[in-house]
Amino acid sequence: MSQSTAPAAKTRYRPETRLVHAGTLRSEFGETSEGLFLTQGYVYDSAEQCEARFKGEDPGYIYSRYSNPTIAMFERRMIELEGAEAGRSTATGMAAVTTAVLAPLKAGDHVVASKALFGSCRYVVEDLLPRYGIASTLVDGLDLDQWKRAVRPNTRSFFLESPTNPTLDVLDISAIAEIAHAAGARLIVDNVFATPIWQSPLALGADVVVYSATKHIDGQGRCLGGMILSSEAFIAEHLHNFMRQTGPSLSPFNAWVLLKGLETLAVRVRAQTESAGKIADVLANHPNISRLIYPGRADHPQAALVKKQMRAGSTLVGFEVKGGKPAAFRVLNALKIARISNNLGDAKSLVTHPATTTHQRLSIEARAELGISEGFIRFSTGLEHPDDLIEDLTAALEKA
Ligand SMILES: *Cc1c(COP(=O)(O)O)cnc(C)c1O
Repeated sequence: MSQSTAPAAKTRYRPETRLVHAGTLRSEFGETSEGLFLTQGYVYDSAEQCEARFKGEDPGYIYSRYSNPTIAMFERRMIELEGAEAGRSTATGMAAVTTAVLAPLKAGDHVVASKALFGSCRYVVEDLLPRYGIASTLVDGLDLDQWKRAVRPNTRSFFLESPTNPTLDVLDISAIAEIAHAAGARLIVDNVFATPIWQSPLALGADVVVYSATKHIDGQGRCLGGMILSSEAFIAEHLHNFMRQTGPSLSPFNAWVLLKGLETLAVRVRAQTESAGKIADVLANHPNISRLIYPGRADHPQAALVKKQMRAGSTLVGFEVKGGKPAAFRVLNALKIARISNNLGDAKSLVTHPATTTHQRLSIEARAELGISEGFIRFSTGLEHPDDLIEDLTAALEKA
């Protein structure tokens, strides 16, 4: 195995080039496509080499729970795409979130997080952490004063998603990072909805970025995966040993699928975002819709912030159908191209009713607080022709 002649410097090539080449390792066979090393373990030339490897004096692999050449290629490509110092992959997005949030903390610590979180992320912060003596406070992420007021002497981490799921609010990452740092805390950002193509939280002041690679990074509905990106120091201090011993590791097969997904990530996300913008413009004027949210439009509540911290809108569109749940269900059931699913970021357009699925666990009051009404629909734009998607949506909306 040798490092290819692919870019080594993080910033020498543009993202599209890094997505195709960064991190590629080639075996003695000179394969074009990245090799799939579907192996649990590794053998050693001698007992001495084995000893040296366990002592960390020989750089080779030991066990695929620790690392693996295919996984290393995926991690390297993500690190260079994000412009991070270091990173570690995980089996799922939730393994990435749980590890990044939990690993650096101990009983007696305190976390502040935005209320508008993916359901499982909210469970980790709201239910899981307190069971281990780690207090958490949920705030309205749009209100900077609430972040400031939530700080305690033992606050160690801030956690947020932006744009938020499913209402696509955009939180001020730089301002929240500043509040975190003034309090001696770190900011962890779940960047799934923005994708690494449209938003770089580390450059905005965040300390740790997490992804569900299950979403746009695979982007073709095949496998689950996750990624944590940060400084070398964060990984050495908090993640390295925790991950080796607890084992949230990515499968080499999934790492290989995700590597191939990365090659087309920029092309897909750009096309999906362009279509999402067109869909949002048509829906904005539709008589059966009472509210439309799209971060790429001038009427988005945080439009100025979108311009400042994101390079483009989103592949997701949020809208509220007049007539509540019955009307929303009629629209979902009438769609012919977009399929009903709780997933997002796929090549296939997917449509979600958050109140009865992803956010069903929350009380009606908690949902109302987040703007998730019974008529709210989240549309994940796929790679179909935008005119077909628009015709499908407008025909379904007639049924509302
Ligand atoms: C899907 C998702 C996750 C969890 O990812 P999995 O790969 O399903 O475990 C976390 N955060 C956000 C914002 C997501 O959309």
